[in-house]
Formats: sequence, structure tokens, C-alpha cells
Amino acid sequence: MTDDVLDLARRAVETGPLCDPCLGRLVADRSFGLTNRERGRSLRVSLALADDVPVDDLASDDCWVCEGESTEERVEEWAERAAYAVDDYAFDTFQVGTRVPPLFEENDRLLREDVGLDPDAGEQLKAELNREVGKRFGRATDTEVDFGRPDVQVTLGLGSDELDADVNSAFVYGRYRKLERDIPQTKWPCNDCNGTGLNRGEICEGCDGSGYRYDESVEQLTAPPIRSAMNGEGATFHGAGREDVDALMLEGGRPFVVEIDEPRRRTVDVDALEAEINDFADGKVEVTDLHLATYEMVERVKELDASKTYRMAVEFEEAVDADAFEGALDELRGTTVEQRTPQRVDHRRADLTRTREVYDIEGDLDDERHATVELHGEGGLYVKELVSSDEGRTEPSLAGLLGVDAEVTALDVLNVQGEDEPFLTPEFVRDADPEDGAGDVDSETEVEDSSNGENETND
Ligand SMILES: [Zn+2]
Ligand SMILES: [Zn+2]
Repeated sequence: MTDDVLDLARRAVETGPLCDPCLGRLVADRSFGLTNRERGRSLRVSLALADDVPVDDLASDDCWVCEGESTEERVEEWAERAAYAVDDYAFDTFQVGTRVPPLFEENDRLLREDVGLDPDAGEQLKAELNREVGKRFGRATDTEVDFGRPDVQVTLGLGSDELDADVNSAFVYGRYRKLERDIPQTKWPCNDCNGTGLNRGEICEGCDGSGYRYDESVEQLTAPPIRSAMNGEGATFHGAGREDVDALMLEGGRPFVVEIDEPRRRTVDVDALEAEINDFADGKVEVTDLHLATYEMVERVKELDASKTYRMAVEFEEAVDADAFEGALDELRGTTVEQRTPQRVDHRRADLTRTREVYDIEGDLDDERHATVELHGEGGLYVKELVSSDEGRTEPSLAGLLGVDAEVTALDVLNVQGEDEPFLTPEFVRDADPEDGAGDVDSETEVEDSSNGENETND
């Protein structure tokens, strides 16, 4: 030990009673692998040897800097309280934070000033407590610290002696198919009564008092079993866009994430859960590809550029010739379409012209006035207008190429897939069993053809 460190220690203990951790924190950047308590204790022993005096054990507990907050007992107590606070919850990762009253920060600053160090030299009390309580909490709960987004966040309130424990949400990713019409994606509050179920004191006629315009939603048909499996306080449904209420969502389905608030369980058998949801949804909605997902998956499903595949029923005002029909589809296949904002879209939206690509289009005439068309298009393509031309606002269009008015009479979505990569990649999967790896991610039904549409609301 060099003389300057010994001199520093000597000046420090002369400021008043000082505990080993507070002494050690002054030189926390030295000798990696020691605790501050060990650093402080070593300094004290070295001082005693150098000066040939008894080691002063008594200084420890009524420390003027931390007022006893760094004692083993105190640290152990915080850790036990924290573990008790989250006892009902299963989690893998945590973070400990400490709210330190200004008095303590001032003491740290004064001590450093007294011994001639920079105000922020060594380590602050807050960091010491976060780490020391965290180590004990981690051992007690068999979990690991995570400085990103932990499952559980514990905050020690040094001045108030209050401990807060926040349990972060858990996430389940999947794809849904909607097999019946007139089901919105999420709960749709009744417009007549603003979701209250009452109109001027009477049961609302618009919703029979339910408060909802539709009895069921994809959310209501899928989230409850997940919430129940994870024993959480609430559930929120996040979809990768949405289809019209009267459109079906078929084949590959649409990615979604259900967020569970304050889950008591995080590791659930997703295969069993999938079966449970599908049983619960009773054939109206089906889910596939269920995975435990990371927090980042919410933004992923909402933000990832996606293409979509649609199936449309098209009606023509006059008879259409089969060759002309095929020729028009050939023209549209792979073409870039210019679209002015459709007339049916909210008038408050700016009238813009944008370009979107038709990746693929196939169709069959059912009779000379009716066709079934499947289309894979870039996100944001207004497919109804691609058929009707919207009075020339979309160019080219099926109606325009045929010279016959055409209209989409039914439109379903067959698939939603990432433009450049799948929605589900291993980094977004939180596996129940790490030994499993994220291997079955490959099973995602990202078929080659699909389309997007920023808002099928257009369709
Ligand atoms: Zn102290
Ligand atoms: Zn109502």
C-alpha cells in the first residue's frame, strides 16, 4: 500500500467515526475484485500496523457519512424486505435502485473535500447500496441483475425507509387468424354512450348497456387465457396493424403481442396456452406461433414495415372478357402504383400522392361480372382503390385498365409479413427454457407471399 493511500485513510478516519464501506468507497476504483467493506477494512488494518496502534473496530457503526446505512445488517435487511415484496412473483432478472436524500450526498461530498479528493471520487453511497443489496437479493431469489429492462425493479428509499417493488410486464407474441366477420381487433367502446353503457341515465340502446359496440374482439378472445396463465393484473393487446371489422384475417395470420401487467408467472407452456386460447376463442379466432417475447417485441409488431396479402371479391359493372381480365392483371403485377389519398379516407388527412408496389396479383373470373383476386402488396397500398381507380386518383387500376367500373365487395387479409425480415427473430424470443434455444422460431408461418397495408382500414 502506497503512502498516499495510507495518508488518505489517515485523513479520512480523522474526520469522525467512519464505517469500513464509506472508507473503502473513497478508493473504490482501486483493486478490482474487493468490496468496499474489504477495502475500508484493509485500510484500517494497514493504518493500525503502520502506526502500531490497535485497530479501531468501534468506528464502524455510527458512521457520520452514511449514518449506519451501509452496515451488513442494514444491507441484509433491505435485501430481505425486497425479496419479501416480490415473493409472489416469478422473475429472472432485477435491478436495485436507491433514492438517497440530499443529506447523504452532501456528506459524501464533505468527506471528499476534507480528505482532498474530487467531489465525485470513488463511489457514491447510492452505487454501493444498489450493488450490495442487489448481490444479496440476487442470491436470495436466485435471479440476475439486468441493467436494461429487468423483470423486477426494486427501489430503496433511504430517507423514508420505504421500499418500492415494480414488476414489469411480460409479453406473449403470436399470430392470429380471425375466422368470423364483425369482430374488431380490440375492445371498441360504444359511440352512443362513450363506453359507459348508459345514456341519460337509461341503459344505452346502442350497446344494450355493455358499453361496447361489438360483444367480442380479438383481444377479448385471446388475452384472458394469457392473463390467467401468467396470473397477471391486466392485459393489453398490440397488433401489427389491423384489418377492417368486417374483414377476415386468414392463412398466415397477423402478428400480435399481448402484454401482461404484473405477472406472477412468466414461464408458461406456450403450446398448452395456444390450445387453451383456441379453445376459449371457440373457432372465431385462432392463434399460432405463440412465443414468450421480449419487451422490444411490442415496438417490433407496431413498427416493422410489413407487406400484406389480400383476397378480394370484385364486382364489375359490365361483362368482362377473360383475356382482357388476364391482361389487366399482367399489367398490374409488379407495377408501381400512384395513389392520391382516397376520397373515403378522413378528410382531415392531407391529400397526398404516394407510390406503392404491387408485388403479385392473381385472379379468376367467377362469371363475367365477378372475380376473385389475390394480391400481395407493399404496406400502405390502398387495395380497394387499386381495383376501382377511385375516379382516376389511383393509376393504374383494374377498372382503368379494363375500362369497366369495378368495386371490391369483400376483402380479407391472408397474411402480414415483414418486408425485409420476419417479425419473429431469435432476439425477440424469451425462451421458457434457455436450453431449448430459440430454435422453433423457424416455424413462423412467414409464407412467401403476403402484403402489408399500413391500415387495412383503407380496405
Ligand atoms: Zn458509512
Ligand atoms: Zn352504448
